Amino acid sequence: MIIGIDLGTTNSLVAVWKEGAPVLIPNALGVVLTPSCVGFSDSGELLIGQAAKDRLQTHPKQTIANFKRYMGSARECELGKRKFRPEEVSSFVLRSLKADAEAFLGETVQDAIISVPAYFSDAQRKATRAAGQLAGLRVERLVNEPTAAALAYGVRDAGSERKFLVFDLGGGTFDVSVLEIFEGVMEVRASAGDNFLGGEDFLDILVEDILASCQSELCNNDLSPGDRQRLREAAEKMKRTLSAAPLAELSLRLRGKNISYSLNEDRYIELCDPLLQRLRIPVERALRDARIRASDLYEIVLAGGATRMPIVRKLVTRMFGRFPVTTLNPDEVVALGVAVQAGLAMDDVALDEIVMTDVCPYTLGINTSQQLSGPGGAFVDGFYLPIIERNTVVPASRSKDVYTVRDGQPKLGIDVYQGEARLVKENIPLGKFVIDMPPGMPAGGAGANVRFTYDVNGLLEVEATVHGTNIKGSIVIEEHSGVLSNDEIRERLDALASLKLHPREDVRNAALMARGNRLFEEALGPARMQISRALAQFESILGRQEPHEIATAREQFQSWLDSFESSPLIDA
Ligand code: AMP
Repeated sequence: MIIGIDLGTTNSLVAVWKEGAPVLIPNALGVVLTPSCVGFSDSGELLIGQAAKDRLQTHPKQTIANFKRYMGSARECELGKRKFRPEEVSSFVLRSLKADAEAFLGETVQDAIISVPAYFSDAQRKATRAAGQLAGLRVERLVNEPTAAALAYGVRDAGSERKFLVFDLGGGTFDVSVLEIFEGVMEVRASAGDNFLGGEDFLDILVEDILASCQSELCNNDLSPGDRQRLREAAEKMKRTLSAAPLAELSLRLRGKNISYSLNEDRYIELCDPLLQRLRIPVERALRDARIRASDLYEIVLAGGATRMPIVRKLVTRMFGRFPVTTLNPDEVVALGVAVQAGLAMDDVALDEIVMTDVCPYTLGINTSQQLSGPGGAFVDGFYLPIIERNTVVPASRSKDVYTVRDGQPKLGIDVYQGEARLVKENIPLGKFVIDMPPGMPAGGAGANVRFTYDVNGLLEVEATVHGTNIKGSIVIEEHSGVLSNDEIRERLDALASLKLHPREDVRNAALMARGNRLFEEALGPARMQISRALAQFESILGRQEPHEIATAREQFQSWLDSFESSPLIDA
């Protein structure tokens, strides 16, 4: 069985293709959204999901969120005294989703398809694949998130003929894809995006505005990590309130001061205007590249939790002159589509008629020199030579010839970049290698054929062959500091094996304790004492290790916390 995983910035989901349809798999808490949060429990086990999310506030140094933003970089994530790479932290989430899938399916799971933002770079894709390997999964394929969302919609009506656009705004990334369906063939015509734009940026703006407007109460804003997290959570609630009501209010006690703040939609639009303008750019580029007019689109499909924001939906409606489609839940649509992709990979008969083609969303090329005009003009380095142009259908293989620029030049350096700018310094470096040139050749007399091969997973291989010989050089993009080599993955796999997930049967208890502790920190006065007593009571029942008694106490504690959390006492 191949499982499909949507590894999101904020939430992750796992799904399978079962009996001719995609099915979302619940986690140990019985819900399909697992917060992409990781932490260590007090006993040193890994806590994933809601329990870790609740501990972000109470144990900020032992807990982490938003690490998808660092994938493909060498940035270290600190968890207590230990440091991990972003792909290692992601692998913990994947391990937990794998365990959920195994519990649901009643069998061991080894193969997975994982979705990535279409605009993820080579290093970010390799980091995602490494995260899968570190979680003990064979990553059968990476699939672009908007392509998966399109599959979820398209599979229901594959016989029709239409063009549509997927607008996918997640927690940390934004992707746009324009697709065409024709007789079961679903073709991505163009993708564009922004890897650093998502719902979290809309939250950052809100947090900054709250801090700015409460500056006098907060004396220079120096909040502890726990207080900052508390403010972030309160701001996240406001952001969600604004998705359902015209006004959101916040009252919070921070550093011994009462903070109040309110926000209506007009002001939020004003604050977020720079972000809203950034959303337009990839939409325009994707339509232009696909050579499709907005009026030719049959539907605009929304994916990603941040498309729930009315300010985003209004922008989409204004841009296209019509309402977007939301028949599938935007939080779930990518995972459903990855499960369809898993069904395709397993050659399920129900999907016999469906073929999906995708594109490489950005241009890939190398550094070259250009000769200034005039006789004997000097060579100037640093110009971009595109080899695979953006929105080429994948898999793709393209090559270009490059030549020496000096007499007797002993080596040719091949520097690989991704991006659209004319000068390489404005593009993203992916890696480099050097090949030897035959000796004694005049300038331009020796050269190499540089071939780029980009596969369906969006992974790139580069090979250069010296003209007139069989001498080849190929890039080891793994040498990029943001990418682990296979040896490093093997080494780390052993080290990570010693870290154990919090026992699955106990996750609900751990999540309730984490939630109770968070509420204790949020509350004040008598309310606090009530929580403290309830926590102590539940903890003592856990200590007695009587499964029946624990189950009953858990139900009671949970409904008590539900009613407590919905009462206005918390922020008093
Ligand atoms: P995803 O990565 O697709 O799970 O998207 C998560 C993002 O969606 C986060 O930034 C959330 O704050 C945002 N989000 C989810 N639900 C809502 C909502 N009801 N209103 C506003 N933003 C939301």
